[in-house]
Amino acid sequence: MKNPIIFLLLVLGFMSCTQKERATMIIKNANIYAVDTTYTGDAIAIKGDKIWKIGTWAEMEPYIHASTEIIDAQGNFVMPGFIEGHGHYNGLGNSLINLNFLKASSWESIVDAVADKVKQTPPGVWIMGRGWHQEKWDSIPSPNVYKYPFHNTLSEISPDNPVVLYHASGHALFANQKAMEVAGINKETPNPVGGEIVRDQNGNAIGVFEERAMDLFARKYEDYLASLDKEALDSIWHVALRLAEEECLRKGVTSFQDAGSTFEDLDKYERLAKEHKLRVRLWAMIRRPVDELEQKASKYKRKNIGNDFYTCNAIKSDIDGALGSYGAWLLEPYQDKAGFKGQNTTDIEDLKRIATLCADNDLQFCVHAIGDRGNRMVLDIYEVAMQNHPDKKDWRWRIEHAQHLHPDDIKRFAQLGVIASMQAIHCTSDAPFVVQRLGQQRAKEGAYVWRSLLDQGAVVTNGTDTPIEDVDPIHNFYASVTRKYNRDTPAFYPEQVMTREEAIYAYTMANAYAVFEEHMKGSLRSGKLADIVILTKDLIHCTDDDILDTEVAYTIVGGKVAYKK
Ligand SMILES: [Zn+2]
Repeated sequence: MKNPIIFLLLVLGFMSCTQKERATMIIKNANIYAVDTTYTGDAIAIKGDKIWKIGTWAEMEPYIHASTEIIDAQGNFVMPGFIEGHGHYNGLGNSLINLNFLKASSWESIVDAVADKVKQTPPGVWIMGRGWHQEKWDSIPSPNVYKYPFHNTLSEISPDNPVVLYHASGHALFANQKAMEVAGINKETPNPVGGEIVRDQNGNAIGVFEERAMDLFARKYEDYLASLDKEALDSIWHVALRLAEEECLRKGVTSFQDAGSTFEDLDKYERLAKEHKLRVRLWAMIRRPVDELEQKASKYKRKNIGNDFYTCNAIKSDIDGALGSYGAWLLEPYQDKAGFKGQNTTDIEDLKRIATLCADNDLQFCVHAIGDRGNRMVLDIYEVAMQNHPDKKDWRWRIEHAQHLHPDDIKRFAQLGVIASMQAIHCTSDAPFVVQRLGQQRAKEGAYVWRSLLDQGAVVTNGTDTPIEDVDPIHNFYASVTRKYNRDTPAFYPEQVMTREEAIYAYTMANAYAVFEEHMKGSLRSGKLADIVILTKDLIHCTDDDILDTEVAYTIVGGKVAYKK
């Protein structure tokens, strides 16, 4: 080569050419379930954050380079990442901030867990936990009083954080030295009326406080929360977010539809998305009183911020309460509360104002409705809004829960294109009291009737309402296809089950459709986001019992491994 410049150009040309033809990740030995199409191959090539090619391993081989990450799925079930259709992200995080010792088998394991927590917690921040029970431990601590350990080992690992751990019964707590210091407790502190400070032979508190003695800490903890500055509250918020993310990724959830955030929360999500610091894709509904919504909601619309990690395009409201607490708004009285028909929680006029706001600003409206009257009223409000805007075609307004419907209203979901944003797991965990509340006939005809809705042509989505239920899609999938909570529980009107295919569709494509994202996620296709889970059981072909043993082997978000078993 005589001319070095031509040589250089040729080399550069060759390099950029191979760059184009290089996969960043290839998943091989995959039992591919693509949701809306079928492939004969067993390999998926990913380039950047998108799915690139799907085919056989031999077809993918030319695109392998030294930097290509190869994931061997070992014949496991490979499907699009689960989309949580209705949950509370912040609530999930907060529920995970506090330590849980229901399964702790020794005092030492509790001290170790607190020590880990201390490492991630700034000094002065209270560490809270619950669920310990000295009768469930493998060994009796030494020294001890009534089998309760002394606080010393706990206090040594947490010198700068007050630690308060509630007993499983809720009738006692364990405090470390720092917490006792903050609460002003010393040898001279008398036992409060109705409570006991458990002491050693010398009269020193060992760390256990029973019954009313717990109040000494409860008050101080409330003072502490009230005293927090913006920075501290912010740091708690961020810890909660990280915990929620980890929990979702561990369980195969790659996108999360948040059912109601404040403007403050939305600002934080947006900032994190722009900084590429979100690990789970968020789609958020705004939840505020109507006056505030009218002032600000339209300014908070966002789409696909930070490489498609954050969108806000909806408003959340509620028309009634829950069935368990007689809050669901019914057409006819409760079977077990004579003459009572439940609660209307948001003024109908306010809901109509929000509907107008949504229609005018092209926002989706998502209203919580549980009882048959609540659902009918929301369908009526949506129908009027649609009649008032005949030019607008694609609404995709949602009813959150759509739990109990009058048979006449079931077909209206499909007719109006209203999405039934349901939570299958609510059906199976509510099952023990549904018939008491509604009686046989209403329960059979209208409670959690996802089969009837699907047969009428409605879009039915799925989610968990976490932290009300565990965010686990597997348990929820099991509820969808069996109408059972567990292997041993009876099925709740099993004629309403979804097929396996429908249940996966509800958790992927239907959830994507429900937020106008079906072009970018919900199935495995070239050009869609590489949000993928690898599961240890084949959710289409395994037995019902096997579903509950399914584990998440990998969670991949945007072409990167976000969780690995
Ligand atoms: Zn909810």
